Amino acid sequence: MLKVAKFGGSSLASAAQFAKVKAIIESDPARRVVIVSAPGKRDKSDSKVTDLLYLCNAHLKYDVPCDRIFEMIVERFTSIKADLGLTLDLDAEFDDLRSKLVKGMSVDYLVSRGEYLNAKLMAEYLGYTFVDSKDWVMFRYDGKVDFEKTDEKLRDIYSIYNKVVLPGFYGTLPDGNIKVFPRGGSDITGALAAAALDADVYENWTDVTGILMVDPKIVKNPKSIARVTYAELRELSYMGAAVLHEDTVFPVRRKDIPLNIRNTNDPAADGTIIRAAFPKESEEETTRFITGITGKKNFSIINIYKGNLAQNMDVLRKVVGLCGKFEIGIAHVTSGIDSFSLVVSTEDLDKRRYDFLRTIQTECKVDEITVTDDISMIAVVGRQMAYRTGISGKIFSTLGDNQINIRTIVQSADEINITIGVFTKDFEKAIRVLYESFAK
Ligand code: ASP
Repeated sequence: MLKVAKFGGSSLASAAQFAKVKAIIESDPARRVVIVSAPGKRDKSDSKVTDLLYLCNAHLKYDVPCDRIFEMIVERFTSIKADLGLTLDLDAEFDDLRSKLVKGMSVDYLVSRGEYLNAKLMAEYLGYTFVDSKDWVMFRYDGKVDFEKTDEKLRDIYSIYNKVVLPGFYGTLPDGNIKVFPRGGSDITGALAAAALDADVYENWTDVTGILMVDPKIVKNPKSIARVTYAELRELSYMGAAVLHEDTVFPVRRKDIPLNIRNTNDPAADGTIIRAAFPKESEEETTRFITGITGKKNFSIINIYKGNLAQNMDVLRKVVGLCGKFEIGIAHVTSGIDSFSLVVSTEDLDKRRYDFLRTIQTECKVDEITVTDDISMIAVVGRQMAYRTGISGKIFSTLGDNQINIRTIVQSADEINITIGVFTKDFEKAIRVLYESFAK
């Protein structure tokens, strides 16, 4: 059994957090591969080490001294080292980095040092081997990961050292230079390691107890999702739930390795498991029907009327083409016999609203165009909703009972998502009543 465990910045922000990580690692001998982010914020007013490193780079770029910020970074690592009684020669590490701090230095190298140093400290603390990610995460010149090479390199390393700490966030280009992933990219490093080593599970340790069924800013203490499929996750994140980046899941999804989101501050909680499918559903899952509810504000509905539109697809084709030309994102299209509607981003529409509407009027010779603003879209997502009767009925009656008017309705082809448009004044209330009606 092999568990690959990635810890995010808030799990590593201080010596006290390091101690929690050590307890988690030591509680399960299968946790032999550990990936770390750079130290994150200790509290709301604190700074992430990676942000400080980017700030150093900005100072260098404009010839402004960055000593004060650099000293803040030194202090973060030094205090973790001192509090844990470690021996890593941080002075030598920082002297080396200081000597490289010149205008035009590699930004990627500089900002990757947060993960590099944190991994060195964590390796010593756990008694694991530090392996630099420049030696196994291989990028191609086009900036994409070379999966084959990456897998092979890590497997070779793991055959020699089988208890390792790996820094997240960066790897090497073919010319040997360091390249970082986009922000938050240590998640990707963890997924690459799990995939390369065919891990039994990829644990992603963070500061929340898994993915919540609904935004906690709207519903107090919502339940967390025990198990979610990648397809559901895509629907939830597309509509606004902040979950993992698409690139993160790709390596583990490819190999069907379960991805488990866990909370470093609450290790007893099981968190959320993400997989392509769950062969056996729990009773709770089959009776609750829905996995999560999410939504987004700031949509407009453009309604276009013209006699017998259903027989004249040309108008729809032209209007969709004009949306492309005017760079207006279309979220949904719904149609009737003499009309169709487009749900679009209000922000996009506002850039050239009248120009766009005039062009439709003249080029498509429609009878009437109306626009309804202040629309919010709410997605009710669940793999258990598919091919089951009564779910949409329950959604509509819940909203109806609460005097919430539905402006538009869309169901995804696989029936795992029913999205409804409501007026933004009803957004929070709609999510709340739907959660209450389904989550019990
Ligand atoms: N430390 C990097 C960041 O703040 C990468 C990561 O934490 O995943 O974006």
